[in-house]
Amino acid sequence: MNQRVLVLNCGSSSIKFAIIDAANGEAPLQGIAENLAASHSQVRYTDGQNKHTINLEDKADHKHALEAIGRILMQFTELRSSLVAVGHRVVHGGEKFTHSCLIDDRVKQAIGDMAQMAPLHNPAQVAGIESAQAAFAQLPQVAVFDTAFFQTIPQHAYLYALPYNLYEHHGIRKYGFHGSSHYFVSRQAAKLLNKDIEHCNLITAHLGNGCSIAAIKQGKAVDTSMGFTPLEGLVMGTRCGDIDPSITTFLMEQLGYSAAQVNALMNKQSGLQGISQISNDCRTLESEQEKGNERAKLALDMFVYRLVKYIGSYLAVVGPLDALIFTGGIGENSSYIRQQTIAQLAHLGLHIDDKANKDMRFGRSGLISNEDSKSIFAIATNEEWVIAQDTIKYAFNA
Ligand code: ADP
Repeated sequence: MNQRVLVLNCGSSSIKFAIIDAANGEAPLQGIAENLAASHSQVRYTDGQNKHTINLEDKADHKHALEAIGRILMQFTELRSSLVAVGHRVVHGGEKFTHSCLIDDRVKQAIGDMAQMAPLHNPAQVAGIESAQAAFAQLPQVAVFDTAFFQTIPQHAYLYALPYNLYEHHGIRKYGFHGSSHYFVSRQAAKLLNKDIEHCNLITAHLGNGCSIAAIKQGKAVDTSMGFTPLEGLVMGTRCGDIDPSITTFLMEQLGYSAAQVNALMNKQSGLQGISQISNDCRTLESEQEKGNERAKLALDMFVYRLVKYIGSYLAVVGPLDALIFTGGIGENSSYIRQQTIAQLAHLGLHIDDKANKDMRFGRSGLISNEDSKSIFAIATNEEWVIAQDTIKYAFNA
């Protein structure tokens, strides 16, 4: 029988769930419980053939949502009986977790202790783990950390030039996020290059609502754009990425913003949304700029420019490049963003193949560069599969 894993991704107001076939990454059942702790809480899921929506009681919490997910699973007897473990995506593993691990009380406590650094995520994930332990008591549970892949980044790259004691006593350093995605696409790229990952120098750009880029030297992460939190780095859907840190104090001292307002401004009202004042959605901005909207164009130009700067700096860091990889909703689908980015990198040996680029979308993976270029790939990511595979590995020492 297939070994299947229930993969849970508990956010602050949603739970994504999927049953993943560990052998091939296919998802016979997947869905999302959303608007938790708010009005119109609901679960939407697809079983491969049909889409379903179940309304939950208003302000349903994680526990209620997981119970509802458990009831949905009850309807799929064969799938449920093929479940061998539960894998949890955990956003922040700090310095403590350099790889995934089987969850026990000590691990759960450590994930909770890191809530200070990921206040929106880690508490929700502890709640998710506890509910899943109650609902699926017979199954081993494994935590897979977004930060673990980046624990190979050297100290000179992960430290901020702040007084060292802030790192020693408060853990203030770069951690990096989206680790499962960067891990997955870098390994896929090595396969496409027909090379061992240990011999690959890669730059991986995960461009979704959240965006991050990683420098991977000889198969190991040596730098990444997200930092102490997922706010640093690239321009994102609603996050500003890199700014002068003094803007924070200016907003507070001169414009009267509270800390919570600064946080909301930079995380929820900035990025593509903040510049364009139209949308955080790349598709909408592309169609608006085609109609001549200048702000939509500016937002996209800023998105591309920041990306080009990071690619240029990571080309300096990784050494001779084997491949540049685009992934995430934008990276996998937007031929426009890819083309605009690569057009600015011609002097660094990167050239796009227009036809291959236009054809590469909707979950396809492959080469989008021409024969004069270093390799450029668009690769469909599959973070759930990474979580499922690690879950099997750490649950059963496989
Ligand atoms: P999340 O970070 O929430 O997982 P996704 O990886 O799904 O997000 O990426 C969402 C982004 O992908 C949105 O900005 C969306 O506009 C963009 N996107 C999806 N399909 C396309 C497309 N065909 N062309 C351009 N952008 C796209």
